[in-house]
Amino acid sequence: PPVKGSSETSGRGGASVGGKKGISSMVENAFRGSVQQPQAQRHGPSGDRGSEEELPEELKGCDPLLIERIEQEIIDRGDPVTFDDIAGLAFAKQTILELICWPMSRPDIFTGLRALPRGLLLFGCVTQKGVRLLDAAPLRGSALPACPIFHADSFIFLFNSPATHASTHLRPPGTGKTLIAKAIAHQSGATFFNISASSLTSKWIGEGEKLVRTLFRLAAYMSPSIVFIDEVDSLLCQRSADENEASRRMKTEFLVQLDGCGSAAAAARVLLVGATNRPQELDEAARRRFVKRLYIPLPEAEARRALIVLLLRTNNHQLTPQEIEQVVTRSRGFSGSDVHQLCTEAAMGPIRDMTAGLAGDITALAVADVPPIHFRHFLEALSTLRPSVSEKDLDTLLAWNDDFGTFS
Ligand code: ADP
Repeated sequence: PPVKGSSETSGRGGASVGGKKGISSMVENAFRGSVQQPQAQRHGPSGDRGSEEELPEELKGCDPLLIERIEQEIIDRGDPVTFDDIAGLAFAKQTILELICWPMSRPDIFTGLRALPRGLLLFGCVTQKGVRLLDAAPLRGSALPACPIFHADSFIFLFNSPATHASTHLRPPGTGKTLIAKAIAHQSGATFFNISASSLTSKWIGEGEKLVRTLFRLAAYMSPSIVFIDEVDSLLCQRSADENEASRRMKTEFLVQLDGCGSAAAAARVLLVGATNRPQELDEAARRRFVKRLYIPLPEAEARRALIVLLLRTNNHQLTPQEIEQVVTRSRGFSGSDVHQLCTEAAMGPIRDMTAGLAGDITALAVADVPPIHFRHFLEALSTLRPSVSEKDLDTLLAWNDDFGTFS
């Protein structure tokens, strides 16, 4: 059967989206013949396991229940992502190809100075406190309820008034860091461990230190593995007076694991990928351990165009190339996820047109009657959205990149 996520199953026919031509196929080539199912699927350690005796030798001493929770809640077996799914970011893709993909696929050649780095930091854009949509304007005259609920990807944004927009619960806007980590994992057939630092300090609090140790033992056992830590700054931030003992110990454990001292992960192909929108808040000790630090910028016009074209493929639309160009120009400063949000919002336009006057009853609508998306729907959507990243925040990020970023 085709390998999960290969061009046969990705449904994209290997078409390159934005970026420098050829990088995606170079990445594919790096893994041709070596793409494999993660070991997680070949021999996951859990099963009908209740006791430690049933654990494989390499995991002896670990808590079986914790392993099971990690398998269920942290190992990500979601839809595969390939480099073709990522618009733009040519520099990041090229760098990752050389620094990560090649060493992961050929550890025999990439030894010593060329060895796979232990840590990769992907840093992107800072948010304006999570504000995404301007106000409830898109809902004027629509059949949607007065309290707006927006679905974007798997996130649901709920807000009642502009004053509540700045909720800290909103996830920062995406520039593709998670996508990149997922693509590395998929392309290298690695097991993908996906955890956000905020869940480490909330959901896993109390067992954090043990979790980190078990996580890396499991990652080594299931290697090659990518351990992806979102919002890593909140875990490895500069020391503060109100830092509690539990988080201090968890942080120390992380640094130990990043060093690879006395860890099975040292010999295995385990890569820690941290993502942050606030790299300047990272502790210096943590920063040093993320040997490679890649700036993931906002998409340029070419990348926005590629993304818009890609997203529009899934819906009936009547935008001319010139109109698409206008959308590209007007979405300057948008992150990849803002562009996604813009297209989602525009795609709702034809539905709102149709349902106006139906009092929200869509039961009688025929699929064939849904009109195409027009340019004016994009104009409407553009009037309700603004870029999530401020110029000032961008300047801070660029300065950090100049000081500590990886340029190759
Ligand atoms: P981050 O981890 O940087 O916050 P994500 O990688 O999770 O962002 O991106 C969030 C969403 O935004 C993705 O699921 C995708 O829909 C869209 N997106 C962001 N950047 C890109 C990109 N470069 N190419 C394609 N889609 C993108």
